Amino acid sequence: MKLPSLDESLKFIEPQDGSQSTVADLPSSISDIDEIQEIADVTIPDALKDPVERSDLEHRVLDDSDFWKKIPAFRHVTREEFLDYRFQNRNSAKSTRDLKDLLRDLTADSFLEDVEEGMRQAPMAMRISPYVLSLIDWDDPYNDPLRTQFIPVASTRLPDHPGLTLDSLHEQADSPTPGLVHRYHDKALFLPLDVCPVYCRFCTRSYAIGTDTDEVEKVDYKPARDRWDKAFAYLASRPEIEDVVVSGGDTYMLPHKRVRYIGEMLLAIPHIRRIRFASKGPAVMPMKILSDRDWTDTLVDLTERGRELHKEVVLHTHFNSPNEVTDITRHAMNVLFERGVKVRNQSVLIRGVNDDVDDMITLVRRLSYINVQPYYVYQHDMVMGVEELRTRIADTVEIERHVRGTTAGFNTPTFVVDAPGGGGKRDVHSYDHYDETTGIGVYRSPSVDESRVYLYFDPIDRLPDEGRDRWDDEDERELMVAEALSEAGLEDLEPAVSLSDALTPA
Ligand SMILES: *Cc1c(COP(=O)(O)O)cnc(C)c1O
Ligand code: SF4
Repeated sequence: MKLPSLDESLKFIEPQDGSQSTVADLPSSISDIDEIQEIADVTIPDALKDPVERSDLEHRVLDDSDFWKKIPAFRHVTREEFLDYRFQNRNSAKSTRDLKDLLRDLTADSFLEDVEEGMRQAPMAMRISPYVLSLIDWDDPYNDPLRTQFIPVASTRLPDHPGLTLDSLHEQADSPTPGLVHRYHDKALFLPLDVCPVYCRFCTRSYAIGTDTDEVEKVDYKPARDRWDKAFAYLASRPEIEDVVVSGGDTYMLPHKRVRYIGEMLLAIPHIRRIRFASKGPAVMPMKILSDRDWTDTLVDLTERGRELHKEVVLHTHFNSPNEVTDITRHAMNVLFERGVKVRNQSVLIRGVNDDVDDMITLVRRLSYINVQPYYVYQHDMVMGVEELRTRIADTVEIERHVRGTTAGFNTPTFVVDAPGGGGKRDVHSYDHYDETTGIGVYRSPSVDESRVYLYFDPIDRLPDEGRDRWDDEDERELMVAEALSEAGLEDLEPAVSLSDALTPA
């Protein structure tokens, strides 16, 4: 079934204006439906609300054009070819050279030089699918939300915050065996591999994900059977664990047989009740769901096997911008919905990508419309080399305030900050203290560790002059932290990140 176009959707509303019209007066796309005809004589009640604005329905408009044909190298690529995931994998851009070869005259040399320099300083390798590349507005790449997520440029770079460390979430410290994080009581995070269908500049796991860069030599999370089996052995030995997240790296990149191995192993452990496969895939290569039948069948089989065992197997994905959702995405999500696979979404709040209230509302509504449940929006982690992508806690709180109430509560994401130093996810509003001048947010996480206090630092370039001056002065830094702890009344707790470690001069 085709979705109503925006014009049809609007027409649906218009007859209500003058009132005294009946259901029969509605546009034929509605009034011709058999069931609706049964109420054809009913007078439409007067509207209490103004006619809907076009922009309020924008989330339903999904690109169904051959949008990839704008890219010179894809000009002659047919829909069938473009919808084949193997084409997507084969033609992913992994370097500035690849970008040049694919984009040709679509992009300026000055932009590519900026990218080249950006790559030299970046903690993440580059990998962009043709799908994503084709959705970027190449007339204005600097302001494009997809370019911003996947292609670094040197010219916008800011110095890292002095309170920042490479593995800011302390995942390695919470890992009993490599690639298995057991931080919370009843849930664990399993990282089976270190590659993804794209590489996100802002990835929290830049310590492990992707190939080494000039800046970072990565921890090894190769998809090795002996490493996996150690993780399963640990999980089997911990009866409190009911919930396992299989995250990234990215299950999209695993052959279906290995996805099945992971799924069957986890399902076999009696106390594991909930399994989430996490994948960026639907946001950056939705056609895989449509064209890699074995992979999709495997996910569906595991979901069905789980259902027989009264266990939940779901897919968690990672859309950040409404521009990532096209008609191809809708088809892919329809397939999963029809086949009983629940999909939830976790976004990261990123400056220049989705830190605008209208964009975030459109994203939430658009995902809801295609049956993807918005679950979390994360405060951007304190990640190396992407300071210009972070927002202030205050921005995130304000966006949440506007989003809540715009759609169903169960489709309203919780805005969280993953507390640096291993505190885990906290509701972004739940700070014990927050100072917009110094940008210091103070959190506690009693379920993880009652004795510690966790700090998040706003990006310095967004602070008022007074705050920026104080961070410039090295003697002021520890003082600001001490003040924050004192104002929170938490001087007795131990900061999770040792101040002298993190607060070394930038
Ligand atoms: C996010 C995360 C989980 C899952 O947390 P939920 O709040 O249930 O989504 C589990 N373990 C670790 C280490 C995590 O970071
Ligand atoms: S897909 Fe996830 S794990 Fe992979 S690079 Fe992006 S954020 Fe990191």
